[in-house]
Amino acid sequence: MTQSVGGWLQQDSELLWHPYSSLSAPSPVRLVRGAEGVRLHLDDGAGGTVEAIDAMASWWCMIHGYRHPVLDAAVKNQVDDFSHVMFGGLTHEPAIRLAARLVEINPSPLEHVFFCDSGSVSVEVAIKLALQYQVARGHNGRTRMLTVRGGYHGDTFAPMSVCDPVNGMHSLFTGALKEQVFGPQPPAGFDRPDDDPELLAWAAELAALAERHADEIAGIIVEPVLQGAGGMYPYSPACLRVLRELADQHGFLLILDEIATGFGRTGTLFASEHAGIDPDILCVGKALTGGYLTLAAMLCTTDVAQTVSNGPGGALMHGPTFMANPLACSVALASIDLLLSQDWAGRVAAISAGLSTGLAPAASLPAVKDVRVLGAVGVVQLGGPVDIQRITDAVLRRGVWVRPFRDLVYTMPPYVCTDEEIATIAAAITGAVEEAG
Ligand SMILES: *Cc1c(COP(=O)(O)O)cnc(C)c1O
Repeated sequence: MTQSVGGWLQQDSELLWHPYSSLSAPSPVRLVRGAEGVRLHLDDGAGGTVEAIDAMASWWCMIHGYRHPVLDAAVKNQVDDFSHVMFGGLTHEPAIRLAARLVEINPSPLEHVFFCDSGSVSVEVAIKLALQYQVARGHNGRTRMLTVRGGYHGDTFAPMSVCDPVNGMHSLFTGALKEQVFGPQPPAGFDRPDDDPELLAWAAELAALAERHADEIAGIIVEPVLQGAGGMYPYSPACLRVLRELADQHGFLLILDEIATGFGRTGTLFASEHAGIDPDILCVGKALTGGYLTLAAMLCTTDVAQTVSNGPGGALMHGPTFMANPLACSVALASIDLLLSQDWAGRVAAISAGLSTGLAPAASLPAVKDVRVLGAVGVVQLGGPVDIQRITDAVLRRGVWVRPFRDLVYTMPPYVCTDEEIATIAAAITGAVEEAG
């Protein structure tokens, strides 16, 4: 029997955790009845639906939009073959093809691939690999990670330990989290040159920290060029060159977490390309499957793979149940082919220009502290915490779905948004922020 939208929402609030939610004071949720192209169809509570452009691309994943015929077909065809098989002792074409494709399209000499279920797990595996690498080289004391403040790498324990200590609420888990080495956040702004004084001061602090903790550090982990869930914060590619040099100097591995930035979001296929440096380990996820299924990958160099494989244990010690799920691999392959078959860079550049123009008026609003755009990411930072419910409702009345956090109202739209839809998103955000004061 179907029940009213009120009935479903009541049941939801009693039964379900949503991301970062409370069961004693659940925040409102909306019922999705369908989704097509760049639009969500939300139940309007009166027997109908209301359409909204998904300016979040379902948390940055849904780059080609909903119900894309090519991606739908990829999943359906794979269902007709087989939906899942264990990856221990068995393999399949979707996994082999996708691994080869990832090796081919990434700009670095990363030649080996580990598939897992989510971004957080890929970060777990990357850190585990770095620790095993150091053990294999006789550096058993190198068990910590060096990172910078303001980062976000996922919600399981190892990723949480390298998230920003304040935003990541490390105080809640004191004693349970590995204490990592935190450097200052890179100075704000994508366009800072290598010899910018603030950047040089930052580099000197990082160098001193690396020197002091060299015997304890296994690797450096950062999100290249754009810190995402930690604060939608762009920084200069020159900082990545600094980190690459420190890693080389001290024998640390450099892990780039491109789970948010991969597949074109910042204007290059991978954000490392802005800096012209290569990581030793790379994590990708989110847009990997075009938002259809949960899948992430960890890639590494042959040196890392061989060193760990020839070290104590003789293997990378990880193996999830749903490793390399064939449905997810098939749709990921289709999504990558679809992306590369179009002028994706032109689209991202057009979205970037549209967001810059459309969000510019927000900069002069009294409530606004900063407006910034990098690639297909547009951010309006307020002077204080966002009234999430109020802004979400005000943006929705303008036909757009956003999910603000902390002091940030932002968009990471699907690449298939038209110029008009990008203008609608920017106007809705600006209008809502103005209305909320
Ligand atoms: C989202 C995200 C993760 C975590 O991925 P999940 O799939 O949510 O586990 C890790 N790192 C970055 C940079 C992310 O944006």
